[in-house]
Amino acid sequence: MSQPSKIWLSSPHMGGTELDYIKEAFDINWIAPLGPNVNGFEEDIQSFLNTKKPVAALSTGTAAIHLALVQLGVTHGDEVICQSFTFCGSINPIIYQGATPVLVDSEPVTWNICPKSLETAIKDRIAKGKKPKAIIAVHLYGMPCLVDEVTEVAKKYEIPIVEDAAEALGSTYKGQNCGTLGEFGALSFNGNKIITTSGGGALVCKDADAKQKTVFYATQARDDAPHYEHTHIGFNYRMSNIVAGIGRGQMQVLAKHIGYRRGMNAFYQDLFKNIEVVKVLSEPNEDYFSNHWLSAITVSKEANFTREDLRLALWEDNIESRPLWKPMHMQPVFKDLPYYGGKVSEDLFDRGLCLPSGSNLTEEEKERIAYKINEFLKSHGHI
Ligand SMILES: *Cc1c(COP(=O)(O)O)cnc(C)c1O
Repeated sequence: MSQPSKIWLSSPHMGGTELDYIKEAFDINWIAPLGPNVNGFEEDIQSFLNTKKPVAALSTGTAAIHLALVQLGVTHGDEVICQSFTFCGSINPIIYQGATPVLVDSEPVTWNICPKSLETAIKDRIAKGKKPKAIIAVHLYGMPCLVDEVTEVAKKYEIPIVEDAAEALGSTYKGQNCGTLGEFGALSFNGNKIITTSGGGALVCKDADAKQKTVFYATQARDDAPHYEHTHIGFNYRMSNIVAGIGRGQMQVLAKHIGYRRGMNAFYQDLFKNIEVVKVLSEPNEDYFSNHWLSAITVSKEANFTREDLRLALWEDNIESRPLWKPMHMQPVFKDLPYYGGKVSEDLFDRGLCLPSGSNLTEEEKERIAYKINEFLKSHGHI
């Protein structure tokens, strides 16, 4: 029997015009970094985000977070708070700066940073002699964090927020776009994100001055002189004009992709609607609008199967699914970092699974997913 074709968790989905922009760059021989596609892509993002804040296109989302920390003055010996339940790209830039990540647990509603544990962490770090330099707030799987509560704590202690909106392009909180809510906002266009440039990122900056600094640091910190003159250490983090061409094409289909991804979430809500032991992550109220980059479920502790049982059953049919992010405080390389909170993120990792969520899944593929999941639930007596 031949293996059924693979259904991916989240795969690149080109809109059709990307090659036109690349071809144009070739035609005018604008292959070097900078150029009209970079400016055009930045303007497209800014206008999509409906914000006055300027956008700087960079090589990756990780680079965007890094340059935010550089500009907030994070340096050797400093501390930066970040939610533990995330991808390593959120916290590695803290280490690049020689600073220490202080990890904080999630709350169970949005799965993002818990405002109570956040305040506990800030108070304790201050008591121990160091006030954290920044808070990295993540909107995981596209779900905005408890923005008001987190912002209130940050304001109380006057600590700037860097939003990691790598997974949340197009998500909004009270009508405002994720990425525009903090001092800086990082976006990612990596291969599996809601739009992709093959690899890329952007930093939403609070004003023109911050954007200019971001571009300065992203292009090796070259001072204004006819020769190469340097008074700062820079990075080679700027997006290239070719890559930005893909981005311009992708911006034309972003709204459609969000519609498809939200459709996938509705599909899973429906599939599991009578299954008490499975919960699909959903928006807590009308203040929240998630792009539903990935649809994720949790399996109750009382269920007669685990998320791993379901993952393996899907894998048998060549359907990719993946456990939720393994919290950073559980990672061998980060096990000695300070951590504040309880077991919310550990529990999510134990019980959670991301299901195929791509904007390019066909009706036939969705039927295969539904069939396999229903078969699995039947074999465990849930249907
Ligand atoms: C993808 C991602 C990043 C990093 O983005 P890259 O473009 O891959 O460097 C950071 N944080 C989160 C939560 C992500 O999902």
